[in-house]
Amino acid sequence: MTARIIDGKALAAELRAKAAGAARLLAEQHGVTPGLSVVLVGRHPASEAYVRSKAMLAIEAAMHSAVHKLPETVSEAEVLGLVEQLNADPKVHGILVQLPLPAQVDPHRIIAAIDPAKDVDGFHPVNAGRLATGLPALAPCTPLGCILLAKTVHPTLAGLDAVVIGRSNIVGKPLAQLLLRENATVTIAHSKTEDLPAVARRADLLFAAVGRAEMVRGDWIKPGATVIDVGINRVTTADGKSRLVGDVAFAEAVKVAGAVTPVPGGVGPMTIACLMLNTVRAAAAIAGAPVSGDR
Ligand code: NAD
Repeated sequence: MTARIIDGKALAAELRAKAAGAARLLAEQHGVTPGLSVVLVGRHPASEAYVRSKAMLAIEAAMHSAVHKLPETVSEAEVLGLVEQLNADPKVHGILVQLPLPAQVDPHRIIAAIDPAKDVDGFHPVNAGRLATGLPALAPCTPLGCILLAKTVHPTLAGLDAVVIGRSNIVGKPLAQLLLRENATVTIAHSKTEDLPAVARRADLLFAAVGRAEMVRGDWIKPGATVIDVGINRVTTADGKSRLVGDVAFAEAVKVAGAVTPVPGGVGPMTIACLMLNTVRAAAAIAGAPVSGDR
């Protein structure tokens, strides 16, 4: 068997076009141009590149976008001050504080200070609680992208056995909540799970969000399963070059799975596309306009 390779780039381009269409409609009908503000603290080349592409794609998606750069030595009070300013700015509908933050700035405090209505990353405890209790919520972008990728293979996820490896607040836990919302039967596996390969082999839908290069081997995968690889790991190859790999041993997985996402080109582009959708949704909700959706 050779698995279908799920094209995250193509799906993400479609979603961004959808977000742009919804943003233009909001501007025409309600006079509101969605605005995304990204806060970047310190100098992390990977974060800077990521933030640049978020800003660029926001503009492409017919939104305003601004990047606020703060020095590595910034105090927590200064970051909180900026967040308050963005909360109060009517042109800003989405606020994203790029993680990680330097040690003197508590990420929980910063996230809790963001207006939940503008929390387009979906990390605020109010949005996490709303998601967990089945209320409309801004859900985290990477898990949203994972669900949309899985749905390109399975129009409905109801009744499928889903295993999520990883229980972070950013990926694993909200992904499990979204899968429950889709009526999948969900198992969350993590670093203390016993016999992880056997747990993984039960899955019709296997999600890997660990951050360990190629940890999920071919014989962990149920034949025909759909595998969504969230991991992004930089490894050095035998010839001394570096390349990105996922948490799944891709070359093995394609021989067993029914469908699999590549790294890069799978979940990554979907995360940014879902951020654009969340920003349009936030702007629509704040404007009291019908909230455009992808589902
Ligand atoms: P994290 O470090 O916060 O969480 C990792 C999780 O993996 C933990 O819950 C831990 O219990 C589990 N874990 C660790 N070792 C394990 C093991 N040996 N067996 C089973 N479980 C184990 O990481 P995160 O923020 O959730 O990110 C996970 C991966 O996803 C990273 O590679 C990250 O770079 C990537 N990521 C990608 C995107 C994207 O847009 N594609 C977005 C976010 C994160």
